Amino acid sequence: MSDTNTIGLTKADYAGDSKSTLCLGCGHDQITREIIQAVFLAGVDPYNVVKTSGIGCSSKTPAYFVGNGYGINSVHGRMPSIATGANMANKNLVTIGVSGDGDTASIGIGQFMHAVRRNTNMVYIVENNGVYGLTKGQFSATSEKGSRKKGGDTNDYSDIDLCKLAVELGCGFVARSFSGDQKQMTSLIRAAINHKGLAFIDCISPCVTFNNLPDSTKGFDWLREHNVKLHELGFVPEYDAEKVEQLPGGSVTVDMPDGSLIRLSALSDDPTVYDPTDIAAARKQLEKDRVDQAHVYTGLIYVDPASQALDDTMRLPDVPLCQLGEAELRPSREQFDGLLAGFR
Ligand code: SF4
Repeated sequence: MSDTNTIGLTKADYAGDSKSTLCLGCGHDQITREIIQAVFLAGVDPYNVVKTSGIGCSSKTPAYFVGNGYGINSVHGRMPSIATGANMANKNLVTIGVSGDGDTASIGIGQFMHAVRRNTNMVYIVENNGVYGLTKGQFSATSEKGSRKKGGDTNDYSDIDLCKLAVELGCGFVARSFSGDQKQMTSLIRAAINHKGLAFIDCISPCVTFNNLPDSTKGFDWLREHNVKLHELGFVPEYDAEKVEQLPGGSVTVDMPDGSLIRLSALSDDPTVYDPTDIAAARKQLEKDRVDQAHVYTGLIYVDPASQALDDTMRLPDVPLCQLGEAELRPSREQFDGLLAGFR
């Protein structure tokens, strides 16, 4: 593989502007490497990246990738609002929001739900470890009932499945992955960047300090043994799509609106492949995941290739709002009077 991408940059050009201060071995650092690999392979201009986050260990990570992008570390659970504002001001930027299970599934759950409902054009990654690492490991709302963490405490409450919630809210791209699966995560992030609308990735990302016992359902050992991939997933960019032959049998190809492809192949002895464009199958799969506490199913759970992002719904002009002058943005006296008349 060439050392430079389609816009002539090296992977080093996508590095963050500070070194990680997370615990050695934290799953979040793996996701940082996967984001860097994905934006490098996608040929994204680093100066066109917006990175937003909330509060928590996960929310420190935007400092560790794409140092030349715009970074905004917001208040707790408010990352989606900041991302939506940035995206409305300049719809041509690539918006990557990073959050945690505490940040999204508790204080920020309303923000998450409305970002999904509006379909903000962004990649929304939850680095999900089932605990509040920054405040010493309390269980979060995504921790399954009966989970055990360091110190032996057991969680007495049922969990919120963010993928299930996203599908029910009409999210057009829903995936689950594991930080230790670099190939799957990188492909998912690349596909998410090309998706029009909110692309949600719930990535199980073990907390090695507070939630990594052998039987911790969000720990490394447990995930390596219990991860069931729904398919082998590959992403084919727009510029390569024409050269790709359709795979025979046991595969599904999802055509994206921009001409790129998502390729899904059946694994091992399974002759069929999970079809992520079938929302009924997605609901069934997520219910199976809930009942089958012994396994974590990862991959692209649902995608709507016809998704319409918020900027389209709002009929924003081709030129980003932040690049328009006062003369274009300010309504004329007649338009303003007409607007006021509408309220009388
Ligand atoms: Fe990662 Fe847990 Fe350490 Fe936070 S406390 S940096 S989540 S390992």
